[in-house]
Amino acid sequence: MALGFVGFHAACLLVIHVGVSAAALLVAAGTYLLRGLGITAGFHRYFAHRGFKTSRPFQFLLALAGSLAVQGGPMWWVAHHRAHHRFTETERDQHSPRMHGLWHSHMGWMMDAKCFGPSGAQARDLHEYPELKALQRHYLLLILAQAMLLFAFGAGLNALWPELGTSGLQMLVWGFFISTVLLWHATFMVNSVCHRWGSRPHDTGDDSTNNAFVALFALGEGWHNNHHQDAGSARHGVKWWQFDLTWVVLRALEKVGVVRDLRLPRASG
Ligand SMILES: [Zn+2]
Ligand SMILES: [Zn+2]
Repeated sequence: MALGFVGFHAACLLVIHVGVSAAALLVAAGTYLLRGLGITAGFHRYFAHRGFKTSRPFQFLLALAGSLAVQGGPMWWVAHHRAHHRFTETERDQHSPRMHGLWHSHMGWMMDAKCFGPSGAQARDLHEYPELKALQRHYLLLILAQAMLLFAFGAGLNALWPELGTSGLQMLVWGFFISTVLLWHATFMVNSVCHRWGSRPHDTGDDSTNNAFVALFALGEGWHNNHHQDAGSARHGVKWWQFDLTWVVLRALEKVGVVRDLRLPRASG
């Protein structure tokens, strides 16, 4: 695990060698947003908390987008996240800054073999879908295929339109490594920063905070004190100024009939 983390961060340094192009930046923004929404709307608000309803095909697409974010398969992610809510700031909360320190809550916890221990019971409801089990089982293969596709895409662009100034390796570095590492830290900050720094409008009995900086990069997940207050809500930014991109996207998807029954916070409506 530690090797994987170091490897991904080191691969980002290849940017010195491959440079940058508008095409690579555009693809990196796209993979950041799509896979980020797979995590926030998919793994988190839909699978872990059942904040809205959708069709089985779209459920699969959400799980696929989340699985490509290199943050573990759906069963693992959901099981650990539900444990975080159930045991917040106790010994059994694997990424509590109060219990284990800031570094451990940010990334260190995933380098502890304990985090891969059996906790599947927390995500048993997902096991009734063979297509989700397949995503979990072939998770590493998916990641590999994604990297190869991005490389092939960059190489193809270079062959057809060399004036774009991109290449297979450049597309891999931006669309896969840099995008993944930035999305990691945005997600991890919800566990570390959003249990340490920010405002706490709700007395939730834990250290969760609202943090606008994290909310911006984590697509709305930085309104984490609101989330601990009302975990089932599909909307985390509840005030007009609490920008929550995931909520904006979910509302748009509701308008076109892709998702339905979006749950709102109990108190603020
Ligand atoms: Zn939390
Ligand atoms: Zn949650």
